[in-house]
Amino acid sequence: MSGRVTPLRAIHRGRGAQYIEAMHSLARSWSLAGAAGWLNALPSQCLICRRWQRGALCEACLSHTRRRVPRCPRCAIDLRPHPAPAHCVPCDDQTPEFDRAITALDYAQPWSTLLARLKFSEGTALARPLGKLLAEAVSARSTPVDFVLPVPLSTQRLRERGYNQSWLLAQAVSRQLKLPARHDLLKRAQHTERLMTLDAEQRRAHIHGVFEVPSQALPLIEGRHLAVVDDVMTTGATLNEVSATLLEAGARSVSVWVLARTPAPKQRKASAGERSTEPDDRL
Ligand SMILES: [Zn+2]
Ligand SMILES: [Zn+2]
Repeated sequence: MSGRVTPLRAIHRGRGAQYIEAMHSLARSWSLAGAAGWLNALPSQCLICRRWQRGALCEACLSHTRRRVPRCPRCAIDLRPHPAPAHCVPCDDQTPEFDRAITALDYAQPWSTLLARLKFSEGTALARPLGKLLAEAVSARSTPVDFVLPVPLSTQRLRERGYNQSWLLAQAVSRQLKLPARHDLLKRAQHTERLMTLDAEQRRAHIHGVFEVPSQALPLIEGRHLAVVDDVMTTGATLNEVSATLLEAGARSVSVWVLARTPAPKQRKASAGERSTEPDDRL
């Protein structure tokens, strides 16, 4: 990314820039979906390269993600350096409940930092550009979908955070793809603590039985093709449990659409600057 000064950056340097930053802070502090439109209409610095432009991310940074990599069609893990024609070994050993996973990115810098911001502070501003990325990845693999669903948060987590980042992403993706999005077809019946310190088996046990389909949603689930949206998939334990719940309720198929997929451990080690902590499947 070059440090070239753009005309916009020159115009908004100094007091003007301070004013714009103050307006951004104000819009962010509202934590309202309506603020996102206003925020995206103001000039702002791209969160990755810091160029001034409109929206949270510039087109040049977004375009870096459009290079497609070979991925397991079932769990979306990056198969490099040995792409195989079939599924990855873990999917062959233990087939996931969902039919297919689609992702836009590997969970690596700078996107991992950005995803933390999506989750913890700037969901409304980031959901639109990141949702567009995910929609592009989904468009590349046509699949029938009747409804787009977010992975639900518990009431407690929703109260703490003020928004569900997966619902913001699901709305952004569904707008792009002109598909209906519903947040009322699946509930998180139990609150769970964070999964970061748990291994794959422990995550599976921890998340078992956490989700439920409300009885009034059953007619909309039965026989339907569903897509479940989440920000990050690590072990896939949460999305597997969500899929099992929807299939038990009568769904015909479940696809999972995740913005970022955690690479296999070997790739993570090779990736300079990566933090050693495992991202949470679901905070
Ligand atoms: Zn940029
Ligand atoms: Zn796989």
